[in-house]
Amino acid sequence: MEKELIDKLDELQTSKNEGRGISCVQDIVHYLCKGNIKEAKAIWSWDGDKIRQYSDVDLFLIENLGCRTHGRINCEDERCKEVKNQFTNSN
Ligand SMILES: [Zn+2]
Repeated sequence: MEKELIDKLDELQTSKNEGRGISCVQDIVHYLCKGNIKEAKAIWSWDGDKIRQYSDVDLFLIENLGCRTHGRINCEDERCKEVKNQFTNSN
């Protein structure tokens, strides 16, 4: 992932949780900075439930890291599209 996008993600999470940030997203940012996409995706897949309440972060991850189930960007799976649409439609 490009540095710009990683910075954007870090910026999104930092104000959450009363300014403490979201720890699993900080872990994802850490691995992305090291270029370890595989580990970043693993955390996203395991700990994504903790991110769901932060819809802007969740949508950002779906769009830039891929769906939680398959790790695919623009996943064509019906359920993954549904998850993504929940966020895009609520705006
Ligand atoms: Zn998927």
